[in-house]
Amino acid sequence: MKKAVYPGSFDPLTYGHLDIIERASKIFDEVIVAVLCNSTKNSLFSIDERVSMIEDVTQKYPNVTVTSFDGLLIDFMKEINASVIIRGLRTVTDFEYEFQIAQTNHVQDSNIETVFLTSELQYSYLSSSIVKEFASYGGEISKFVPEQFIDKIYSKYKDR
Ligand code: ADP
Repeated sequence: MKKAVYPGSFDPLTYGHLDIIERASKIFDEVIVAVLCNSTKNSLFSIDERVSMIEDVTQKYPNVTVTSFDGLLIDFMKEINASVIIRGLRTVTDFEYEFQIAQTNHVQDSNIETVFLTSELQYSYLSSSIVKEFASYGGEISKFVPEQFIDKIYSKYKDR
């Protein structure tokens, strides 16, 4: 059984993330989407909101589950007995940072391997931050995130 963990902030999950999840689900027996509880990041959605939103759009993949974790990714992976980290690569700008983290995690625990996947070309510019920036000005976001997220995202900005 090859278990892979796809960690991230997913604030909110975009079609780019969903594409990576779908691809990973075809490669690995089990994919665990792990939402990072990062108190230093000023997030739009709470951890519980993010977990339930991702659960909602990944129901169709029987081997995908969603959870959250705190602290070091490699400690969380040991706890659940997983050895593969999935990360998505958009453009070369992602590479340097991702490369550093992948090397560091492997030095910390040589059983851990990072697998990089790319998303469809049309999502290669897409990030949660862009979605938030657009939505904050009332911009159209239906091409970026699943339909059921749209009102939830706009309402966060109405409340502010
Ligand atoms: P983090 O805060 O860890 O960067 P994100 O939620 O921004 O978390 O992203 C999680 C992972 O998904 C990262 O590996 C990121 O590079 C990847 N990712 C994000 N958006 C896309 C996209 N549009 N296409 C491919 N990979 C993506």
